[in-house]
Amino acid sequence: MHELGVVFHIIRSLEKVAKENNVSKINSVTLQLGEVSTVIPSYLSSCWKWAAAKNELLKRAELIIEKIDAVTRCDSCGAEYSTVEHGKLCPECGSQETWLLQGMEFLIKEIEAE
Ligand SMILES: [Zn+2]
Repeated sequence: MHELGVVFHIIRSLEKVAKENNVSKINSVTLQLGEVSTVIPSYLSSCWKWAAAKNELLKRAELIIEKIDAVTRCDSCGAEYSTVEHGKLCPECGSQETWLLQGMEFLIKEIEAE
């Protein structure tokens, strides 16, 4: 259960932020999740519900997941294309000189507190 570890990691970060800002209840948390990150959103949501319910700070907190599309850039021709569709091979020129531009994100974007 990789997602459960991720949830605990998020909760620890939130607790730290809440303490620093004197917040006692969090209403919602917005996460940015890259399309090719290793975290599965539906598992993450289930783990979140389970873990947040046990936590005074997060009891009523909603988890909002924003998906970020994976995009790869080709160094040979400069094309940018969908990573999920084409993988490492550039669909424009067939080059493998490509790198992931975005899509591995895993960030807490926004916290809404009372
Ligand atoms: Zn190319």
